[in-house]
Order: sequence, then structure tokens, then C-alpha cells
Amino acid sequence: MYKHNMIPVEEALERILSTVSVLQPETKPILNCVGQVLAGDVVAAFDIPPHDNSAMDGFAVLAGDTSRASQEQPVYLNVIGEVAAGYTSSLRLTGGKAVRIMTGAPLPTGADAVVQFENTDETERKRDKKPLAIIGIVEPAVRGLNIRLRGEDIQHGQIVLRKGATLYPADIGVLASLGLAQAAVIRRPVISVLSTGDELCPVGQALGAGQIYDSNTYTIAANITMCGGIARIIGIGRDTLASLEDKINHGLDADMLITSGGVSKGDYDVVKDVLAKMGTVSFWTVRMKPGKPIAFGTLKAPGGREIPHLGLPGNPVSSMTTFERFARPAILTMLGKTAFARPTVLAAIDQDIANDDGRRVYARVHVSKTAGGWQASLTGPQGSGILTSMSAANGLAIVPEDCPLARAGDRLSIQLLDNAEGII
Ligand code: AMP
Ligand code: MG
Repeated sequence: MYKHNMIPVEEALERILSTVSVLQPETKPILNCVGQVLAGDVVAAFDIPPHDNSAMDGFAVLAGDTSRASQEQPVYLNVIGEVAAGYTSSLRLTGGKAVRIMTGAPLPTGADAVVQFENTDETERKRDKKPLAIIGIVEPAVRGLNIRLRGEDIQHGQIVLRKGATLYPADIGVLASLGLAQAAVIRRPVISVLSTGDELCPVGQALGAGQIYDSNTYTIAANITMCGGIARIIGIGRDTLASLEDKINHGLDADMLITSGGVSKGDYDVVKDVLAKMGTVSFWTVRMKPGKPIAFGTLKAPGGREIPHLGLPGNPVSSMTTFERFARPAILTMLGKTAFARPTVLAAIDQDIANDDGRRVYARVHVSKTAGGWQASLTGPQGSGILTSMSAANGLAIVPEDCPLARAGDRLSIQLLDNAEGII
């Protein structure tokens, strides 16, 4: 009966994702937009670079004047002036003339090449105190040499960054190069985090008899931050109707509520009653392990809004694996992201992993790269209360539903949670 009610992981995810949508855009300073998704195309209002300019420190010349230049027989040109980056000049270059020019300075009218200092006799002239109104060119320059053309990076009217793109540092730089101080990005979701359980004690306080510290608030909030969301910590709800209702009411001013605990058989009813009263809630048993029944639904929020509620199991490892599988894609969807997949590697496991009841097992492993390929070691006992098994893991090894036993040496697909050790 229990088993038949189990819904597949993908179905649970689909149901959750069908209730969350991409949030509204916000416009803010570009530096605050790193990692967020662009809400609209960015179109260039001008060319970059805005004018032809020099890629080198040297002399702007007419390439044709230099065709016979050599070390032995330099071509001598009259230096008619100098232009530095940040300045324009009205100098006009004609045959037999040169303009001393710095990197980034606009090319004088008429010039069609820049000869770098190294290919002139400037150093010797300075050393020998010869007049600098003349410069000797010692190598021929071809047309266009050392010239950065107007618009060679970005052209006026071009779509430079597309709606939906995640902004990385280079993109922030591109926005700046277009002179934009602000950008419109999908705002970050605010996620309320509520732990439930009479046994829970807040960190920083002395433990009472029979109590344990509330760690789920912290793993969940930290994961929300890692996903790009904003965690709003509501605290700890007791296993009573009044306490839960009060705490949930404090968490409704958000884009989603994530609770942990209170969904296993023992306290199922309190949570069920409260949530049913405050919205529409289903309890599912998802075909995954760890991951006991999870609750999912929508809660009525002030202003006629409805917000999604994800009720994760209380066991620290279960709440983390269900967060990974369900909350992370939901948060990324709200952020406007469309790719959720973690990098996956095939790795040989170091011990048997049993799968007794046809669920999808997410075993905590530490993956390393060896000469023989990737190796995955189980990170100790796999009980769903053993949070250190998660702390030591950098991946989740997946034993499929239809595989009753994965044997030591088998290669399993591993979802990497981080790549801090540079294994891929
Ligand atoms: P529950 O789903 O409420 O029955 O909780 C299952 C197990 O997870 C129990 O052993 C709880 O003590 C533990 N647990 C629940 N919530 C938390 C929490 N916030 N931090 C640490 N452990 C928890
Ligand atoms: Mg509980």
C-alpha cells in the first residue's frame, strides 16, 4: 500500500516545477547582478571601440611610405605631433609624415598603420640627442597594422547579451563598456525557512534534556544562498497547531516556504492539519532514498497571493537530498535559469549498495580521480540522520529503482555536488 503510493522522482519534480514561475525583473547596479539572469536583450547604442585606435605605442603612418624601410635604410618621416589615449587630434596625416601615438588613442585622419616604437629609431635618437621631429622607420608596415577598428568588438544595434543569459564577470564588464550603470535581471527569490520539532534547540543556546540542535535551518538556508536565493529564517516551530500556524504566518511574505520535519508518520497530522487549513497541500511518498514522504502544496498568503510550500523530511540527510532534487530546481526556475543538471561522472563504487524497496538511492560518496578512472567511496554509514556523511561527500551516487544491488566495482552515475578538488 505504502509502496504503491510512491510517485517517481521526475513526477514529483514536474508537479513542483509546474507551480513555480520565473520572478519579475528588477533593475539595479550592474555589480549587484552577478550570477543573475538578464530580463531582456541588451542592444548596443554605439560601436565599440567608438573610433579606430592604436593597439600599440608607436607612430601612426601611411603604410605606403614605409614599404622600403629596413634597419640599414630607415625611412625618415616628419613627426607632426602626438596623440595620447583619451584625447583626439585634428592632425591630418599626409605623405612623409608621422604622428606619435599611444595605445588606445584615436587614429589621426589619413593614417592607415601604426609602427611600434621597437621598429623605429626613437630610442637611439633619444640616446644620441638627435631631433625628435624626425623618426626613422626600420621595418615596412602593412595597411591596418596595429589598428583596432571602430566596431570590431561590438557594433551599434547588435544584441550583445541575450535575455536569459546568466551574468558572469565578463558580461558585467560588457555592460560597463556600453556605459550602462544598471541592468534588468530576474530578482532573487526570497525563501522562508522553518524547522519543526519539539526537540529542536537553536544554535548558541544550551541544549536541554532530550534536545538536539536545529541544523536543517542552516543546511537549507546555506543551500538557498548557494542557489542564488535569499533565505529568510523563520526559526523553529513546535509540534502544535498554534505554534506551527504562527510560524508559517511569519513565513508567508516570501516566494516560497521550505519547512523541514513533521512529515513522517509521528507528527504527520499536526503539519497536515495546519497546512490544509492554510492552503492546498499534498503529501507524497517519493520513490527516492533518502527522502521520506514530502509535503508539497500552495499556501494562501496576504494580498490574495499563493506561495509554494515544500515540506522536506526532518532527517538531516533526507532534507538535504530532497532539497537538492526538488528545492534547487524550483529556486533556479524562479531565478530564470533553465539548466539545472549537475555535472555527472561514471565512477566505480568501493562497496555494495543495497536497494531493498525499489527506490532511487542517492548514496553519499566522495569521488576522486585515479589512473583507472573515477572512484567513489561511500562516506561512512548511510543513515539518513548522519549529516557528516553529507559533509564528507562531493557527490551522490545513484542506484536506479530497478537495481536491487549495486556491487563494489560497479560503475554508477554520480551527480557531483562540488568540484572543489578539480576532479573534472
Ligand atoms: P521528523 O521528520 O520531524 O519526524 O524528523 C525526523 C528526524 O529528523 C528526527 O530524528 C528529528 O529529530 C530530526 N530533525 C528534524 N528536524 C531537524 C532539524 N531542524 N535539525 C536537525 N535534525 C532534525
Ligand atoms: Mg519532527
